[in-house]
Amino acid sequence: MHLARFPRIFLAHLPTPLERMDRLTEALGGPEIWIKRDDCTGLSTGGNKTRKLEFLMAEAKAWGADLVITQGATQSNHARQTAAFSAKLGMDCHLLLEDRTGYKEENYNHNGNVLLDVLHGATYERRGPGLDMNAEMEAVAQTFREQGRKVYTIPGGGSNTTGALGYANCALELVGQANDRDLVIDHIVHATGSTGTQAGLVTGLKALNAQIPVYGISVRAEKETQEKNVLKLAEGTADLIGCHGIVSGADIVANSDYVGDGYGIPTDAGIEAIKMFAKLEGILLDPVYSAKGAAGMIDLIRKGQYKKGERIVFLHTGGSASLFGYPSAFGVPANS
Ligand SMILES: *Cc1c(COP(=O)(O)O)cnc(C)c1O
Repeated sequence: MHLARFPRIFLAHLPTPLERMDRLTEALGGPEIWIKRDDCTGLSTGGNKTRKLEFLMAEAKAWGADLVITQGATQSNHARQTAAFSAKLGMDCHLLLEDRTGYKEENYNHNGNVLLDVLHGATYERRGPGLDMNAEMEAVAQTFREQGRKVYTIPGGGSNTTGALGYANCALELVGQANDRDLVIDHIVHATGSTGTQAGLVTGLKALNAQIPVYGISVRAEKETQEKNVLKLAEGTADLIGCHGIVSGADIVANSDYVGDGYGIPTDAGIEAIKMFAKLEGILLDPVYSAKGAAGMIDLIRKGQYKKGERIVFLHTGGSASLFGYPSAFGVPANS
C-alpha cells in the first residue's frame, strides 16, 4: 500500500490526536478506552468525510470539475464537509438533502449542518424519503451538464473506493501512533453508515497485517446488509491499492442492535453516551452516528464483551454540528 500513488489534496489536520479517556475508562470499570479524534480533522467542525474528500476532491480537480454534487440526509455531515472543501477549492457545490426522519422542527431543517452548508455557499434541494438518492443525484447532474457545467458527483457519504482510501490512510496513521507509544490496540469500534470508513480502515489494517479487529456499530442497515456492503467496498478498495484478496468476510463485523427507531432518530442509550462523553471527557458526540457507536461500545463493555486489561480505540467520526439540529432531544428549551 503506497497511497502517494493516488491524487490527494492535503487539507485535513492530520494526524488527528489519539488520546486516553481516563474518566470514561474509570466510570465503566472495564477496558482502557482510547479515542482517535477524527472529529478534529479541521474542516468546518471536522469529521470523517474530510479524509475521504482529500482523495475525492483531488479527482474532481483533476477532471476539471467546476461543480461538485453530492447527497445525504438533511443533517448530513458529509454534505457539509463537501460544501466546505468545494469552497476552499473555488468550486460550486450543490446538495440533495433527503428527509429520512420526517422531523418538522425548524432547528432540524435549517440549523446545524444545513446552516453550515449555506454559509459555505452551497445550494441545495430537498427530497422525500425512500428514493434512490444516487440516481436522483445523477439526474440532477445531467441537467447541469446540459447547461455546460463540468460536474463531479460524489456518492452518499463519499463511500466509493477512492473515498475509502482516506480510511486506509487512517489505518496507517493510527498504527503508527500506536507503535510510537507502545500501545497494543485490541479493538477498534466506530459508527458505520455508508461503509467507506469501515471498508477503508479494515483494508488498510489488513494491508499492514496489523491484526486489529474492527467493530462497526450500524446507524441504519441490518447487520447482514451492512456487512455485505462493507465487504464489497473493502474488496474494491483492496484491489485499488494492489492488494487483491486481502479482505474476507471474517474481517467485517457489524452490529445493528443500536440503530433504535431508525436513521437520524436519537435513542436513549445514544443520549446517555452523549452526556457521558460531554461530562466525563469534554468531548462532543452527535445523535445520528457517533452517539450510537459509543452507546454500542458502552453497552458491550457493560456486558463484558470488552474486558479489563484490553485496550479499545473508539474512532470518533465527528458530527457535533448536528447537535444544533436536535435541541429537543436534550429537553431544550423546555426542561433546561
Ligand atoms: C458519515 C458518518 C459516519 C459513518 O461513516 P461511513 O463511512 O458513512 O460509514 C459516522 N459518523 C459520522 C459523524 C458521520 O458523519
